[in-house]
Amino acid sequence: MNKEPLEEKEILEELASLKAKDFEYSTGRILGSMCTKADPLAKKVFCDFLDANLGDPGLFKGTQYLEEEVIKDIGSFLSIDSPFGNIVTGGTEANLMAMRAARNTAKKNKKIESPEIIVPKSAHFSFEKASDILGLKLIEADLDGNYKLSINSLKENITNNTIAIVGVAGTTELGVIDPIEELSEIAIENDLYLHVDAAFGGFSIPFLNNIGYKLPQFDFRLPGVSSITVDPHKMGLAPIPSGCIIFREKKYLDIMSVEAPYLTSKEQSTIVGTRLGAPAAATWAVMKYIGSEGYETLANECMINTSFLADALHKEDFEVVVNPELNIVAFNHPKIPTDELANILEEEGWMVSTSNYPKAIRIVIMGHISHIHLVDFLSTLRKIKSN
Ligand code: PLP
Repeated sequence: MNKEPLEEKEILEELASLKAKDFEYSTGRILGSMCTKADPLAKKVFCDFLDANLGDPGLFKGTQYLEEEVIKDIGSFLSIDSPFGNIVTGGTEANLMAMRAARNTAKKNKKIESPEIIVPKSAHFSFEKASDILGLKLIEADLDGNYKLSINSLKENITNNTIAIVGVAGTTELGVIDPIEELSEIAIENDLYLHVDAAFGGFSIPFLNNIGYKLPQFDFRLPGVSSITVDPHKMGLAPIPSGCIIFREKKYLDIMSVEAPYLTSKEQSTIVGTRLGAPAAATWAVMKYIGSEGYETLANECMINTSFLADALHKEDFEVVVNPELNIVAFNHPKIPTDELANILEEEGWMVSTSNYPKAIRIVIMGHISHIHLVDFLSTLRKIKSN
């Protein structure tokens, strides 16, 4: 650390030179990220609320009100009138809270001491973290031919120690939606906690269905669903790290709450203690500013670009792994191995990611990727193919 204070100008110059090494969403070259450029208003509001601590809400009653309003607004498009939950640190903290609520509930009501959770093989690695932190045995159910959770495999894995089953609405690798309706029935039949991880799809499926898409149900209309993760910092255009967990009933927050003796609120259910108020305020602002019409337009544009890319790849004889259900296209070159193709694309300035199951190049068509960017990307692929 420097002993003498540096001049502001010097610090800002060094920061600018380092920031110049970062990729920018606006170039359209970031093709493998579920995050995107946040809305400018949301960024402004975020900065205005940087000192607000939701871990001590009695001091920040205005920010606490904003969080409550955001939870209600998100709940409204997830079909629940009285939702309970928090704006948290991304989908990871949201999933961790859901698993903690399920574990504590099963311990109290069913005296389960060796808890197990069943997730699809496609589940995000945050469940691995949750299992490790919470002492849960993680069981991965197989997928069907469309890379969705196999209901048979899930059923086979239910034991007396199962405390939760998980379905994903918009898988991380392929963007497919698990059969949540069937999961809801299984949850009710077996008295199990069902968590839906809609970190990615939560801010698009409801809006696409509003405008005539026929995507499967995944929300609180299904009576077996106990909680849903949805990330405003993905398709919601809110700044990082805005995640959100919504519970059907308050009892799930209560079963996790610990005493917070020296703070203005005497209990806390979130994992994080001192908790930034900025994501809640920024999410509140961006949702007001964009409105459901704006989210419908955004999700629809992403889907139009997704179909364009998938169709073009088919025509160029690339192997598209699965027909996109949401805005992710995964594909392979008929001859070049996936990792090699990813490296070549990176050398050409395209930041793609790869999926593991199945191995494929994975393109997430977020709002920062336009038709022109995709035309450009396809011409790079054509060039690679002809070499
Ligand atoms: N769940 C799903 C389905 C995801 O795709 C992701 C991230 O991509 C997460 C959870 C974790 O979210 P975060 O990285 O915001 O913690």
